Amino acid sequence: MSFRFTLHQGTADGPRLGTLDTPHGAVSTPTFMPVATRGMMRGPWPDRLGPMEVEMMLANSFHLFARPGVETIQAVGGLHAYMAWDGPILTDSGGFQAFSLASISKLDDRGWRIAHPVHGGMVDWTPEVAFSVQAALGPDIAMVLDECPADPRHRQQVATAVERTLVWAKQQRGLHQQRGGIDSGQALFGIVQGGVFADLRQQCAESLCALEFDGYAIGGVSVGEGHEAMMDGVRHSTKFLPRQQLRYLMGVGTPLDLVESVARGIDMFDCVYPTRSGRFGTFLSDEGHHHLHNARFQNDARPLVPGCSCDTCQSGMPRAALRAGLKSRELLPPSMIAHHNLHYLVQLMKRIREAIAEDRFPQLRQQIASVYLKPKQA
Ligand SMILES: [Zn+2]
Repeated sequence: MSFRFTLHQGTADGPRLGTLDTPHGAVSTPTFMPVATRGMMRGPWPDRLGPMEVEMMLANSFHLFARPGVETIQAVGGLHAYMAWDGPILTDSGGFQAFSLASISKLDDRGWRIAHPVHGGMVDWTPEVAFSVQAALGPDIAMVLDECPADPRHRQQVATAVERTLVWAKQQRGLHQQRGGIDSGQALFGIVQGGVFADLRQQCAESLCALEFDGYAIGGVSVGEGHEAMMDGVRHSTKFLPRQQLRYLMGVGTPLDLVESVARGIDMFDCVYPTRSGRFGTFLSDEGHHHLHNARFQNDARPLVPGCSCDTCQSGMPRAALRAGLKSRELLPPSMIAHHNLHYLVQLMKRIREAIAEDRFPQLRQQIASVYLKPKQA
C-alpha cells in the first residue's frame, strides 16, 4: 500500500477525522506518535504498543545516524526491524536536535555543523545528508531539514529561518522527486516555520504548498512561547494549508495542547511528554496530572488510575509501591508510569476521534481544559 491521506470530515482549521494509509498500515487521525528517539522508547516495550493501540511511531534520523549508524540499521533489515515495530514510522530530520544542541552546532546557508554526539569531531548535517540518511533508514514518512529559530518572538531571526527553511525545502523536494516521490515507498513532509508572526507563518505555509509536499508539519512551537502563543502559531498555519492534506504539529503532547490543537485542525502529534513526565513520577488522569512524590500517596493502595486498562494499572502495583520505588531509584517505576501515561494519551486521542465522529468534541475539549488549565496540582 502506498501513501495516501483521506479526510473523512472537517475543515482546514477545525477538528478533523481522517485515515493515513502507509506502506506499513493505516493510521486513524487525529493520532499521537510515541517518541523513540534512538529507535527505542524509554519505558514501554515495542510489543506492548499494539495492545495500547499505538498506530505510528517516531524516531530521530540524526541520533540514529550517530549511533548505531545507517550501516547497522540496514544490516538488521531497516528501521522497522531495528525498532521491532512493523507499523508506520516517521523520522524527524534532526533540525530540532541541531537547534537544541545550539551550543555545539553552527548554522549557515549550507546546513548545520554539529559535534558528533558519539565519536566527537564535526558532522555536516545538510539538507542533502538529512534526506539521504532518511532515505536509507526507510521510515514511511521523512521530514525535511528546517531551521527552528531559537526565539520565536524575534522577527528578524524568524524571517531568516523561514527564508532558509524554504530554500532547503525546495532542494529536498527536488531530491524526493528524483527518487520517485511517494512511489519510493516514503513520503516527505514540509515544515512551516514563522514563530509567533502570522504573516511569516502564512508566507511559509503558502510557499511550501506551492512545492506540493505529501503532508505538512508545523514546527518551531512549544519552545517556551507559552500555550496561547503556541495556539496562535497553530491557527496562523493550519488555515493556509490544503484542507485535504495531513497536518502534523511537532513536539506537542500535553492533554490540553492536544485537544486545543485538534480544535484548530491538527491531525498528528508527537511528544516525549508522557514518557518523560512518567520518569519524573508524574501520572496523567482525567482529574489532571499528579506527582507521586507527594506525601499523600505514601500509603495509597490504589493503582495509578483505578479502572485504567493499561498494563501498569492492571498489574495492581499500588501508588505507594511506585512512589517508594521511584525514591529508591528502582528501574521499574519510571517505566511503568511512562507506560500508563502513554496509554492515557493514546486513549485520549481515540476518545477525541470518537467525540468528533459523534459531534460532542466541544464537551470533551471543555472537560480536558477545565482540568488541565488549572494551576499545577499536587
Ligand atoms: Zn493505567
